[in-house]
Amino acid sequence: MALQQFVCASANPDKVAEIASLLDGLVRLLPRPSSVGEVVEDATTLVGNARLKASAICAATGQPAISDDTGLEVDALDGAPGVHTAYFAGVGCSYADNRIKMLQVLQGIPAVQRTARFKTVAMVVWPDGRELAVEGVCEGSIAETERGERGFGYDSLFIPADSDGRTFSEMTEADKNEISHRGRALRALVQALPLAL
Ligand code: IMP
Repeated sequence: MALQQFVCASANPDKVAEIASLLDGLVRLLPRPSSVGEVVEDATTLVGNARLKASAICAATGQPAISDDTGLEVDALDGAPGVHTAYFAGVGCSYADNRIKMLQVLQGIPAVQRTARFKTVAMVVWPDGRELAVEGVCEGSIAETERGERGFGYDSLFIPADSDGRTFSEMTEADKNEISHRGRALRALVQALPLAL
């Protein structure tokens, strides 16, 4: 049977690389058309932002679109930055700015109180208005210093609970994908896809 085909709604090359690797052989992923402008992600929930991205790409291409949206919830910060994870250190900030701010706001907080989780909502929107959304969660904690070279975003600060103490940045891509929020969400999404479209 031919693989189902989806346009990738993400414009972030770091995420696209992970999504492509996670969906390889399971669905056919088409690149986001460069003609589509930036989608303003101003919803108040992860699912709301995932819907904004997938709907915009679906409307622009007339094809089913796949999106994901991720938030990092830190318990010592009452669940922040959550939906504001991308710009925790301010609008236009870099990944490094966000990590510096995270270490600053958690300064002096002991390891046992640095628990956190990544949550990803993965979503498909079809041209007839149907949609499918699932969530993937990765529990863990925020390290006291950055460790590792790989990955992006907060990877060098995030120690997943289901591992051996390495941060995501100290893992291979395959090891991260096996336990990550995005890996869990995309695998659940593929499993939940209707077989006949
Ligand atoms: P987005 O909404 O999916 O673009 O994710 C929001 C922000 O979360 C990104 O800008 C990154 O800073 C961070 N992020 C998302 N996924 C990951 C990940 O797998 N590792 C580390 N940081 C991530």
